[in-house]
Parts: sequence; structure tokens; C-alpha cells
Amino acid sequence: ETLNKGLEKTKQSFLSKVARAIVGKSRVDEEVLDNLEEILITSDVGVETTLKIIERIEARVARDKVLGADELNRILKEEIAALLEENKSSDGTTFELEKPNGHPHVIMVVGVNGVGKTTTIGKLAHQFKSAGKKVVLGAADTFRAAAVDQLIIWSERVGVPIVQQGMGADPASVAFDTLQSAKAQDADVVIIDTAGRLHNKVNLMNELSKIKRVMDKVIPGAPHEVLLVLDGSTGQNAYEQAKQFSIATDISALAITKLDGTAKGGVVIGISDQMKIPVKYIGVGEGMEDLQVFNKMEFVDSLFS
Ligand code: GDP
Repeated sequence: ETLNKGLEKTKQSFLSKVARAIVGKSRVDEEVLDNLEEILITSDVGVETTLKIIERIEARVARDKVLGADELNRILKEEIAALLEENKSSDGTTFELEKPNGHPHVIMVVGVNGVGKTTTIGKLAHQFKSAGKKVVLGAADTFRAAAVDQLIIWSERVGVPIVQQGMGADPASVAFDTLQSAKAQDADVVIIDTAGRLHNKVNLMNELSKIKRVMDKVIPGAPHEVLLVLDGSTGQNAYEQAKQFSIATDISALAITKLDGTAKGGVVIGISDQMKIPVKYIGVGEGMEDLQVFNKMEFVDSLFS
């Protein structure tokens, strides 16, 4: 039910609009589909993904002779679920993690400033700690003093150690120290913050690959996860950032934040479909507890309930 609360705005607008699209109609016709297309686009599902959904529904309406609102809801739900990438690395409900080869599980977090990167790292640290994991943070976003300070505040709030060398330090050196320290402490999870300077793509690309190279030297296979944080309330910007970051580095999972404050939760569907990257976490508030492991069936159910 927390998910329901977090997605309140998206749900209300999405559901009531879908219901309105078919009101007074005895069957799903061209006009209903046109309305549905507009609803999906205004919910920020994205044009490409919207057209894909509409096409599939059109085919099913023709084949199965879909008549009423209930059936439309059901097939819409099924088609949306089919487009969402499965969050395979967990059962979708817990913050459990494997320790690869007995080493700490290393999560490198990327994303532009302001999307909620630091907050997401803090929430993740809290969740892992609550699940009994030993967590170490690394402040490798050394480009902004505020980024290091904010992460230190989160480490104190959550009660987990942080490795930092202050602003201006070499991010790869911070990453190296963090992994060394985590290994020495036999930590379960390492979460490393990195700078997100998208306007300087070549630098970003070089910096991220250098950090990754160094990590792999300390713990072979690290980072085990490259988590891109996107602000779900920014619609098309989030799509653009996802594209740009996946050019700069291999992204393995997405965290989509601020879904509590927006009716544009459809962004989760479109980005997952277009990037073919699973959404792993969603942010539904500013508090420590307001992060959820993404479960696609739960998400789709909550949109329609
Ligand atoms: P960063 O610059 O990417 O590290 O962004 P911050 O983590 O500092 O977050 C920017 C702002 O967004 C802060 O005021 C956070 O409290 C807020 N924020 C982050 N995640 C969420 C979320 O899921 N929901 C809401 N409502 N606010 C969030």
C-alpha cells in the first residue's frame, strides 16, 4: 500500500483518464484508441512506446473483439507489463544481495545533479543496513563540495562508514580506497557516488571508465551494478539522460525518483522499454524509507487499482 501512496498522482490521472476514454462507449473503437494514445503520451510513456502499446491493443481488439472498459483495462495492463523489463536480480520485494565470490557487492551510482542521487544512495544504505548488511559508502563525486558533504550527512544519519577525500580529489582514487576499506572490513555492500557531468561527455566517459578499471583491480568483476538515477518528474529529460549515460557507460539498472510528486509515472514504462534496462528501485518520497524495490506486477496493479 506504500506503493499505492507513492504513485497516487500518476494513478489518479492515469486511471480516471483511461476510464473516461471509454465512458459512454459500447466498445473499443478508433476514438477510444485515439484517446488512449493521448493519455499514454501525456503520462510520459513516450511516443515510441505509446505507439507500440496502441498497435498491440488494436491487434487484440480486432482479434478478441474487445468490448468493454474492464477488458480494455485488462489488456492494457498486460501489454504494459509485457514491455517492462523484469527486475531479475532480486525477487522484487527485498533488499537481499549476493556477495559475489565472497567479496563486497559494489554498486556504482551515476546520474546528473539534482535527480536525487545522494538521497537514493542514503536510502539504499539504510535499506541494506536494515536488512542486516554491512554497508560502506564512497564519495567519488568530488566535483562538487556539496555532494561530498551531503553524502557525509547521509552516512551519519544512517550510521554507515564513508570513505572520502574531500572535494577535488581524484574520483578513481576515492573508489580505490573505498573498495580496499570495504574489503578489509569484509563489508557486504559498497555504494559509490560519482559525478554526473553530462555536458562534458568525453570527460564523464573517461572518468567513469577509469573508476571502473580501478574497481575491477581491487575486486575482480566490480562494479557489479551501475545504477543510473533519473528524476521521474522530468519526463523527456529523463529519457535524454538515460540515452546519454548509456552512451557514456554500461548501465545495468535504473532508479527512478520523485514518483510521489508527479502524474508522469508513465516514464517508468517508456524508459524501461526503450533502454531495455530494468528499473530496480523507485523513489516515492524524501524519507529514508521512501525507496522501493521495483516489482513490475505490483507497479502495474497499482496503476489500475
Ligand atoms: P542529487 O543532486 O542528485 O544528489 O540530489 P539530492 O539527493 O540532493 O536530491 C535533490 C532533492 O530531491 C532533495 O530535496 C531530495 O530530498 C529530493 N528527493 C530525492 N528523491 C526524492 C523522491 O523520491 N521523492 C521526493 N519527493 N523528493 C526526492
